[in-house]
Amino acid sequence: MNANIYATLYARFQHKLDATCIETTEGRIITFRELDQATARIANLLTGLGLTKEDRVAAQVDKSPEALILCLGVQRAGFAFLPLNAAYQTSEVAYFLENAAPKLVVCRAANLDAITGIAGGATVLTLESDGSGALTEAAAGQSDRFTTVTSADDDMAAILYTSGTTGRAKGAMLTHGNLSTNVAVTNQFWGWVPGDILLHALPIFHVHGLFVACNNALYNASPMLWHAKFDAAAVLKDLARATVLMGVPTFYTRLLSLPDFGKEAVANMRLFISGSAPLLIETFQEFTARTGQVILERYGMTEVQMAISNPWDGERIGGTVGLPLPGVSVRIVDEAGAESATGETGAILLKGPNIFRGYWQMPEKTKEDFTEDGWFKTGDMGKRDASGYISIVGRAKDLIICGGLNVYPKEIEELLDAVPSIEESAVIAMPHPDFGEAVAAVIVLKPGASLSEEAVVEHVKSHLANFKVPKAVFFTPDLPRNAMGKVQKNILRQTYFPPKA
Ligand code: ATP
Ligand code: MG
Repeated sequence: MNANIYATLYARFQHKLDATCIETTEGRIITFRELDQATARIANLLTGLGLTKEDRVAAQVDKSPEALILCLGVQRAGFAFLPLNAAYQTSEVAYFLENAAPKLVVCRAANLDAITGIAGGATVLTLESDGSGALTEAAAGQSDRFTTVTSADDDMAAILYTSGTTGRAKGAMLTHGNLSTNVAVTNQFWGWVPGDILLHALPIFHVHGLFVACNNALYNASPMLWHAKFDAAAVLKDLARATVLMGVPTFYTRLLSLPDFGKEAVANMRLFISGSAPLLIETFQEFTARTGQVILERYGMTEVQMAISNPWDGERIGGTVGLPLPGVSVRIVDEAGAESATGETGAILLKGPNIFRGYWQMPEKTKEDFTEDGWFKTGDMGKRDASGYISIVGRAKDLIICGGLNVYPKEIEELLDAVPSIEESAVIAMPHPDFGEAVAAVIVLKPGASLSEEAVVEHVKSHLANFKVPKAVFFTPDLPRNAMGKVQKNILRQTYFPPKA
């Protein structure tokens, strides 16, 4: 069997070659046949450039159908795709290019000189947001037929750098087997049906938008309504034609901030999925109250794609990420590695065909992040309830140890977020002379609201044990977030408690 992700997807859409695969907000339509031909041209071009198995092709480009076609063409030919966040500065890109040593780098024309300077002799081609550029010109003369390379499960299909929320981004090597199995499992678990239409408004330099979203639509032979970025009003308009939306929690808070977002707007929709960052229970509840639909929250990461999900067919419980996906095993363990009891918080470990091959050129880190018997240590903490539903409690790195006692920021954040004048909060560790670490709270107030530091402290004091009470409270207009809507607690720690020089 050919595990090549392109072969997996093609087998599923080949009966719909004349149907729409991508429709952009500008009205451009790309059929599955055109996608197939364009990926063949890319595969031929790259093969002609002399790339060999698992050679990297890096791309720092705007979101466009051609960027997705580049990814698929690279994988079809047995090479590895490496997307980079378009917001990265040249100095940041330099690290990735040096680390991954790609043979080809694709960038915007505006960055051509800068990228050529750091590409280490790799070929550099341009690609613009409208699909034009040297890449498309070079591919134009190529044959539109290409026999998809036969790939083994363990062959590398992509290096995706993690979001860098907790430190320097790591390159996760994802294999054809990882991608092919995960799309098949999620497609079934989320109840995709013929006729589904995906509204695609996520970036495609990240696992969520690139693999979870695009691969599911392609695997289902479904059209994608392609939005170059998330614009709440434009998304609202297109929801009338779509049936599935995949988003980060900020998509949902922004939709809810539109006064005309309600039952009527979502009448055609079958499924709203949320992930990449925690969905606040308030958002989950308000969404149901306003639309009558229940957001399906799921959990994954760059290294594992999708691992745990609320069911399509079954109860979706707010505040939880649901159940292990079929084929994925989840352990929640204490510090000694023993299974945590129901309701007890522990470290989340995963095993399954979705788990990545390792961190690119970081064998030590890879070794450190797997147990001896092969479980991947996610770095996230969670707990399981009596019916098997799992909740994410937070990252191990964000855990606060106050006088030897564990404090999970989420417990305090949930308490604070429920205060009517508080929009959202982030709880972080602060250095403390007696306790080692203590709790600090960073708070965003609702517009026009006011609240004193003392009131915050009193509120927590009246609900939780003393060691969980903030020893410092800060107010800020916004929490720092990265492109996937994740709160960057490392930045908060640096801002409020910079390490002493
Ligand atoms: P880095 O590993 O570089 O610090 P990152 O972990 O944020 O960055 P990603 O792979 O993009 O990089 O994100 C995976 C993480 O996102 C998970 O480990 C988890 O902490 C968080 N996450 C994903 N889905 C959810 C969810 N539904 N609820 C809570 N957290 C989630
Ligand atoms: Mg991570």
